Amino acid sequence: MCTVSAVADPVSVEDALAQVLARAAPLPGEPVPLEEAAWRVLAEDARAVVDLPRFPSSAMDGFALRAADTPGTLPVVAHVAAGKPVPRALVAGEAMGIATGGVVPEGADAVVPIELVTERDDAVEVPAAEPGANVRPLGGDVRAGDRVVPAGTTLSSSRIAALAAAGVARPICGARPRVAVVTTGTELRPPGGTLGDGEIYESNGVMLAAVFRSAGAEVAPHETASDDAAAHRTAFERGLESDVLVTSGGVSVGPHDLVRGTLAELGAEEVFWRVAMRPGKPISFATRGRTLVFGLPGNPVSSLVGALLFVVPALRALQGALDPSPQFRLGVLGASARRNPHRDDFQRARLEMSDAGAVLQPIEGQDSHMIVRAAAADAIVHVPRGEGELAEGSTARYLPLGAV
Ligand code: AMP
Ligand code: MG
Repeated sequence: MCTVSAVADPVSVEDALAQVLARAAPLPGEPVPLEEAAWRVLAEDARAVVDLPRFPSSAMDGFALRAADTPGTLPVVAHVAAGKPVPRALVAGEAMGIATGGVVPEGADAVVPIELVTERDDAVEVPAAEPGANVRPLGGDVRAGDRVVPAGTTLSSSRIAALAAAGVARPICGARPRVAVVTTGTELRPPGGTLGDGEIYESNGVMLAAVFRSAGAEVAPHETASDDAAAHRTAFERGLESDVLVTSGGVSVGPHDLVRGTLAELGAEEVFWRVAMRPGKPISFATRGRTLVFGLPGNPVSSLVGALLFVVPALRALQGALDPSPQFRLGVLGASARRNPHRDDFQRARLEMSDAGAVLQPIEGQDSHMIVRAAAADAIVHVPRGEGELAEGSTARYLPLGAV
């Protein structure tokens, strides 16, 4: 077995993230039908195919006319429905019925809403109107050729709609990274089965898959390898064919911790091992060719924190996200938090909304094996390394524990 260094100075969280992102070059872009593009990252600027609106259009159901002819009683010479061509230009002194979204006829410069007119036979009595009233000008939203959504942006629902409206049918999105997850541990059994002595239910596989999928990855069904070098090798060899291999467990210094040694044997080059943080200190990061390899600790909360802080940013960077770093938000501490001089702490907290904003209440049970306690939390609060404590009421950064 190849040896790996057993002693290394832990790297800081910031350095570790920088080292990961430096190796997470965007995957090639691919055209994606809009129906499948929600929450993908746009790889190239998307530009409008048409002006929006494409023609001066009515904002109301009402009557198109010349503002200069108001107030007054005007003959209604035609009706314009949405999606229909205008029969002819409007002449001074005329009105045309028009539907919301209808083409405002040439010659008209205002629309008076139907609620404000009195209809008599083939004429309407209209109050005074300003030029431009209730007319949506051509190109008022965007001009053809202009940028609709910039590269590096996640396609939220409103951005998907903007692309559709501007005629972009197949935006170029960053490819979804293919992720393999291998959980290690002889003691692990799938939930639902019977447990023998010393065995536990495996929980990191489904958790990590959920985190990575919500970050846009394509995650293969996870595998579990027992604490045996051959089993590790078989599972890792397969996983190394993916864009990203994430392992859980077996990355510490015990005699059954085989992950780093096996990865080294398979040609993975370790970039760092151990990060000055809690939970999750014994995290490893390596590369083999273009494949990124994360060795997350087995304790479920450590695994989760490592996934959020390092793997998710890598997945976002691989998709071409403009700002792939963890998207911390600001909240207010509901209780004081002691700082550690040497490492950053990531505490689990409930989020309570108050008039002062998001208040972060640390949960009971901060141990890294306590995944059920952690399930009560809405947020991971960052307590940066340093002296003393963060007082109750002070501002702190947190990562929400919803979809990423
Ligand atoms: P390790 O990092 O392999 O030393 O594991 C640390 C702790 O996490 C041990 O108590 C393991 O039993 C537990 N553990 C490791 N992997 C998993 C997993 N996939 N699901 C649940 N618990 C795990
Ligand atoms: Mg283990």
